Amino acid sequence: MNCAVCGNELLCDRAVFHCSCGVYLHAHCWNNHVIQAHQPEFEIGVVNLSGEFEVRSAKENTEATSTE
Ligand SMILES: [Zn+2]
Ligand SMILES: [Zn+2]
Repeated sequence: MNCAVCGNELLCDRAVFHCSCGVYLHAHCWNNHVIQAHQPEFEIGVVNLSGEFEVRSAKENTEATSTE
């Protein structure tokens, strides 16, 4: 069985993530899978002086997080 992100084999006795979409992943590949495959919605903003969240931009700039 291979990892859906990096394509390498999932080793015995190592933690394997089983995503709700059905794929199996290395623990360290989990973040990449979620970002690439599921792209959860998020807002980018700042915390103002009153400690409240203020939206700066709502995911307009999809600056793809480059993964080496
Ligand atoms: Zn992997
Ligand atoms: Zn998934």
